[in-house]
Amino acid sequence: MEKKFSTNALEICSRCLSYEVNGWVSDKWKEMDEETKKQIAEELKSIKLKSGECIVCKNNLISDGTPERILRILEENKTPNRIKKEFIELFFVNREIESEKNEKEESNREDISV
Ligand SMILES: [Zn+2]
Repeated sequence: MEKKFSTNALEICSRCLSYEVNGWVSDKWKEMDEETKKQIAEELKSIKLKSGECIVCKNNLISDGTPERILRILEENKTPNRIKKEFIELFFVNREIESEKNEKEESNREDISV
């Protein structure tokens, strides 16, 4: 079943993004294959920046397109939907999930704030 998500990535600086993504990847360590983890680590080494305000630390440079590229890595490596969905929930805003909308809304909600 195809689900539709909006693709507005969180406005977050490279340092906070690396920190959050690395934390998330280590949570999923056993569920992700080595190639996926390697590609994500590579992506985090070359984060492009644009102006904006980091929602976590108020830095005035934010990552440009990195969550989108990591999502593409997850897709290309056929990462399970459950993991992709979780990545989207954590690193994208205004997401819209056409079905199963409140599956995860009530309980177990994780926010990116630290
Ligand atoms: Zn930041």
